[in-house]
Amino acid sequence: MNEVDIQAIKTVLQTPKNIVIIPHKNPDSDAIGSTLALWHYLKNKGQEAIIIAPNDYPDFLKWMPGETEILKFDAKKEEAKKYIEDANVIFTLDFNDLSRIGEMQAVVAKSEATFIMIDHHQQPADYATYMYSDTRMSSTCEMVYNFICFLGDENEITAEMASCMYSGIMTDTGSFRFSATTSTTHRVIASLMDKGAKNNEIHNAIYDTNSPSKLQLLGCALKNLVVLEAYNTVYITLSKLELLQHDFRKGDTEGFVNYGLSLKGIKFAAIFIENLQEPYIKMSLRSKGDFSVNEFARAHFNGGGHTNAAGGRSDDSMENTVKNFTEIITAYKNELS
Ligand code: 5GP
Ligand code: MN
Repeated sequence: MNEVDIQAIKTVLQTPKNIVIIPHKNPDSDAIGSTLALWHYLKNKGQEAIIIAPNDYPDFLKWMPGETEILKFDAKKEEAKKYIEDANVIFTLDFNDLSRIGEMQAVVAKSEATFIMIDHHQQPADYATYMYSDTRMSSTCEMVYNFICFLGDENEITAEMASCMYSGIMTDTGSFRFSATTSTTHRVIASLMDKGAKNNEIHNAIYDTNSPSKLQLLGCALKNLVVLEAYNTVYITLSKLELLQHDFRKGDTEGFVNYGLSLKGIKFAAIFIENLQEPYIKMSLRSKGDFSVNEFARAHFNGGGHTNAAGGRSDDSMENTVKNFTEIITAYKNELS
């Protein structure tokens, strides 16, 4: 972030403001962790701040300190609209295009508040007054840590804030194994532990609270896995019926796509999951090396994300989506083999 913007933001935050903090729709641990850490920070500085999430998120994120204070737009539209209309400052975290907040977009886009984006996704849209966008960053949580340091307040990081930020960095780096994990990331993590983040408790809270039906759903997903050997690619499908048979809960399929990438030699893994409420298929895409799933998702499946992790959607049936995918992939033979 440049010095001019930092000074300008310091000036904005010198006096009390009505602040709304927004994560993307279907928020993950990085989105919830980063918004909560920033929320604690701003509240402790005497600001009126609230987090408004577009919708609900999995139970394994609900241990985070302050989580019960998050307002969910889809459940409390009128109350949420009022906060957005009254906001002087809106922080948008872990996304870079207002289309990523679903129905909230229409309300937020009308606001004349000062917008501050903190995000690590590629190709940011141009809506923010101040933009802290850095695609080299492991996570938005690492950026919120930096942001607080830029404002000269590293010493104001509490154990609660540290736990939230640890959680987002941990999950966005695949527990510190993806290539965006730098030595600086590890230094930030070390600092968060010094400030009171309990690594073993956080790993346990996020990863070891599975239900038997979730593990059985994973078993079903792995049975459905198809290898396209010529393209070093795998895909997994999960139908509505399979989700229902395994008592599907929000978040149950998070991380399933990574099992595809764990196969020897595989460079590209995809999972296609039928949405229970609406007639579309959610796609999660992961890759290793230079193959950009961000570009792939943008070009073919109305999505985006990062080079090695992206998402998108298909409005077609599962059968046609798979057919389409296996046809499209033939054009990438050189890149993938
Ligand atoms: P996931 O597969 O875990 O849902 O998402 C992987 C990454 O891609 C995340 O960084 C997420 O923000 C991004 N992503 C997921 N779905 C979409 C989408 O529909 N559009 C865009 N632009 N990004 C997405
Ligand atoms: Mn993130």
